[in-house]
Amino acid sequence: MSEVSTITNNTTLPVNSAITGKLVYELQPDGQEQVDNLFARAREAADELRRTPLEQRQHAVEQVMDYVRDNRERIVDRICEETGKTRTDALVSEILGVLDNLEWNVHNARKILKDQKIPTPITLMGKKSRVFHEPFGVILKIAPWNYPFHIAMTFSLGAFLAGNAVILKPSEQTPLHGLLEEIFNVAPLIKRSVQVAYGNGMTAQQLIAARPDKIFFTGSTRTGKRILRQAADLLIPAEMELGGKDQMIVFEDVNLKRTVGGAVWGALTNAGQSCTSVERLYIHDSIYDEFVQALVTEVEKLVVNNGDRGDSDIGAITAGFQLDIIEQHVEDARSKGASILTGGARLGDNFYLPTVITNITPDMALHSEETFGPLIPVYKFSTEAEVVQETNSFQYGLTASVWSKDLVRAERVARALEVGGVSINNVMLTEGNPALPFGGQKESGFGRAKGTEGLLAFTRSKSVLIDKQSDIIEPNWYPYTKKKYDIFNRLIEVLFTKSPIKLLKLAVTGMKLEGEAKKPRG
Ligand code: NDP
Repeated sequence: MSEVSTITNNTTLPVNSAITGKLVYELQPDGQEQVDNLFARAREAADELRRTPLEQRQHAVEQVMDYVRDNRERIVDRICEETGKTRTDALVSEILGVLDNLEWNVHNARKILKDQKIPTPITLMGKKSRVFHEPFGVILKIAPWNYPFHIAMTFSLGAFLAGNAVILKPSEQTPLHGLLEEIFNVAPLIKRSVQVAYGNGMTAQQLIAARPDKIFFTGSTRTGKRILRQAADLLIPAEMELGGKDQMIVFEDVNLKRTVGGAVWGALTNAGQSCTSVERLYIHDSIYDEFVQALVTEVEKLVVNNGDRGDSDIGAITAGFQLDIIEQHVEDARSKGASILTGGARLGDNFYLPTVITNITPDMALHSEETFGPLIPVYKFSTEAEVVQETNSFQYGLTASVWSKDLVRAERVARALEVGGVSINNVMLTEGNPALPFGGQKESGFGRAKGTEGLLAFTRSKSVLIDKQSDIIEPNWYPYTKKKYDIFNRLIEVLFTKSPIKLLKLAVTGMKLEGEAKKPRG
């Protein structure tokens, strides 16, 4: 029995503009009745999808892509209003990112989802093996507020392409109410197959209690653990895309200008509210002073604003509670002796100045906890071994970047890091290639989105072995006889021998077994 079956959600949830803080609209959370209806419709849609050829699903996703492309400025307006991100962050990470991912999925779905022919071993001669990649049925996607469009669209339509009905639960902070439906409605098949559930964590718990066939969660590690506990009771498989504290490691032989540019963007894009933001910048001690000076100079050039036309660099902090966390992390570090080289303060009610911090010690919260804000905490290191050991000692393991002209060294460090993805001489770029799997390890979660693995994650594999009708009784079927036992004994010997005439020996033993198989019972 689920502990949440009696929960009711009656209080409306305010959705505020992240730029002005003013109320934009109120959200009525879905209660148990709506959850039941969503699932009833989703089960029907899942049945319909099982009978719908892939081409129709591909065509439906292409219709949505066209609509997103043609309406992108209006979509950017909505995203910016609810998240407070800059127009460029919205256009590139949300719109371009979605179109890029969907196009890759549409283009590769046939190859990835088709029945797979699997080799059959010599001991099963005459038979054929296949794997069918079948949809789960109803997928539940629980999404966070930092990329409300990208995460909603790529997961929902990826799952749909693989043949699933989807229920999407956006964050109450950035529900984009009505926008996602408007887009899904462009294709009637998607309209019937992908539904949006509104509400907070309670609604999410009710959705889980209704037993989706698989859960995909993107959000904090804390919430991920709660979801896993609930899913465990119901034995629902779940994939977890969780928090990060990503490191950027800069060796002494880099091009300083480019690498400083990478650090500034990697730490501050989306105002640092990305799971893969650079949250620990390690600089080799021989270039540390020069690097930090250049870093501060570049950070101070950034335009912090919204209401932009594509020419602002840093947007607002989406949620008030997130701004409080950022402030607490900076003040905690300041009080314990960190140096704030630039920034370190709010700007108005909803922005935080991009901040460079040095002299960080392990007792400071920002050293090990995810900050999720526009901070660049800078560290010094002197050897490769030391920096690898230090970065691997943290609980998170999402992505990292390694910067060096020496690609042999960079690749060696990439292998040594306990993370799910590494960009070499670039930053946050593994997720820029839709063909690369994306996900973390340790407290950053498990499972992979994107690429072949990501599409297959929306399916379960069914193994099929095909034999023909004949009068042969398999040698390992009844009756067991001493003679068959001896032949099997011999078979094991010849199968696993290194003898140069193994095949000949195998043929002789095989024939003997076949002779036994053909003998009628009794
Ligand atoms: P949260 O974990 O707070 O929320 C994520 C989603 O879970 C929201 O829809 C939320 O609803 C819902 N939720 C809250 N409580 C529960 C519950 N008890 N049971 C089920 N669902 C619940 O994350 P944030 O929205 O604050 O997102 C920021 C976090 O997401 C960061 O840690 C970031 O690193 C991570 N993230 C990870 C990514 C990755 O790919 N690894 C990508 C992007 C972000 P509601 O908001 O309505 O309360």
